[in-house]
Amino acid sequence: MGGNRTYTMVKPTAMRKGYMAAIMNKITEGGFKIIAAKMTKLSLAEAETFYAIHNERPFFGELTEFMSSGPIMAIVVEKENAVEAYRDFIGATNPEEAKDGTIRKLFGTNMGENAVHGSDSDENAKIEMNYFFNDRDIF
Ligand code: ADP
Ligand code: MG
Repeated sequence: MGGNRTYTMVKPTAMRKGYMAAIMNKITEGGFKIIAAKMTKLSLAEAETFYAIHNERPFFGELTEFMSSGPIMAIVVEKENAVEAYRDFIGATNPEEAKDGTIRKLFGTNMGENAVHGSDSDENAKIEMNYFFNDRDIF
């Protein structure tokens, strides 16, 4: 059983399409409590740091340019076994393969522009939430 917090963010295309509030509603309806939220924007260098784990992948340039192309909504959510529960809730990386009713199926555009991020481990969730929030901004 994992920890009870994970990090997510609404990605730039979903923000541009006006899905921010609908996605936050969906998160809450799914039983995830939003305990931190901030609209912000990553520079290219910041996106490269955030996604450093993928720097050998062929899509790294595309991903970091996209993630720095506009505002994002950075969010910390709380639920039992949060990392796994949230990844199940958002669906597969490719929105076309995501199950019906998942955030990526409902709001994703394509493989890269898949509406939301979800941390993949408790360790990365901590690193990622600390990247965006101070302890005093997490409730
Ligand atoms: P996930 O976000 O489901 O954990 P990954 O960690 O594998 O997926 O990839 C990180 C992000 O990189 C994805 O959410 C997506 O935005 C982008 N991405 C992954 N694979 C591809 C790909 N083949 N082409 C373009 N972008 C991709
Ligand atoms: Mg990942």
